[in-house]
Amino acid sequence: MRFDVLTLFPEIFPGYMSQSILNKSIQNGIVEIHIHNMRDWTTDKHNKIDDRPFGGGPGMILAVEPVVRCVRDVRAMDDDPGVVMMMTPSGQRLCQPLVEDFATHHRRMILLCGRYEGFDQRVIDILKPIEVSIGDYILNGGEVAAMVMIDSLVRMVPGVLGDELSSWDDSFSRGNRMLEYPQYTRPREFEGHNVPEVLLGGNHSAIEKWRLQESLERTKIRRSDLLPEPNNESATAETPNTKSET
Ligand code: SAM
Repeated sequence: MRFDVLTLFPEIFPGYMSQSILNKSIQNGIVEIHIHNMRDWTTDKHNKIDDRPFGGGPGMILAVEPVVRCVRDVRAMDDDPGVVMMMTPSGQRLCQPLVEDFATHHRRMILLCGRYEGFDQRVIDILKPIEVSIGDYILNGGEVAAMVMIDSLVRMVPGVLGDELSSWDDSFSRGNRMLEYPQYTRPREFEGHNVPEVLLGGNHSAIEKWRLQESLERTKIRRSDLLPEPNNESATAETPNTKSET
């Protein structure tokens, strides 16, 4: 999977990219991340990329010309032109099924990170990006949103996670679309709090049953919106054996 991130603040990314699972995947060649400074596509001597909004109002707007030129050049840097995605509060809200859908259908994603008051509308009209929001709140810029996209998407790439099954089992994921069950590790007892007996017995079907029940209970209490409507047969989750092609 290849990401091209278009930003005005490329310095934000190296720390994030140099750690943990992501770093390992980059080293192994499973994931590529290329960071581009949109300012490099300006033509004036001050590298000015923003301007005041027509009609007045606060803040500055990212200008259409350098942004469109930058996207076109970056798309041409690989045989696969990829899909352009704009980080914006006006976009469709990111959720796990959408992450899975993006990971299934796109090998290369070009992520546009806004700043200030965002992009000139003509960037959207001309490039027709997929507009993505990471939630109903306002960030200072699209960089954190792009990192959220990358972080969630790389987990879907075969070879990135030590255990492929964990991306099925996680909360919201393909396995059951519910919240995850409680997890425990050693010691068996801490300050009077014991690990549930069923997890210690080695009876795998009993453990599976307990986990499913706990998942269901937790989801009912905290996120009943995730549960399928009664009688909605199409809402059943996939299992690793029935998973669609990726
Ligand atoms: N004036 C814009 C509005 O009201 O929609 C907000 C601009 S925001 C201060 C600057 C940039 O941060 C946006 O262009 C976008 O790239 C990014 N951003 C802010 N909130 C976001 C969110 N919830 N999801 C994705 N990107 C976001």
